[in-house]
Amino acid sequence: MASSPIVKLQTYGARAVNKSASSILSHKKKPQKLSKQARQKLNEIDALKVRRCTICKISYQGSLVAHKLSQIHKKNKLADMLEIKR
Ligand SMILES: [Zn+2]
Repeated sequence: MASSPIVKLQTYGARAVNKSASSILSHKKKPQKLSKQARQKLNEIDALKVRRCTICKISYQGSLVAHKLSQIHKKNKLADMLEIKR
């Protein structure tokens, strides 16, 4: 892997001569778009994270988005808002 022509080009900063090498090199410079597998992996890691919700006053495991969409959170958020209004 380390001795592939693409890696050499990246290492020494030479200009890519063929189209496929060029597309790989220029792709590297763009903000990295994660592959499906990479995103899946990140989601898996995210799902194992333990976070604390200040509204529900509980610690939960999982993604922030999933928690915010959960019924428990919605209920607590509503209760929280009503309490502020009073
Ligand atoms: Zn919550």
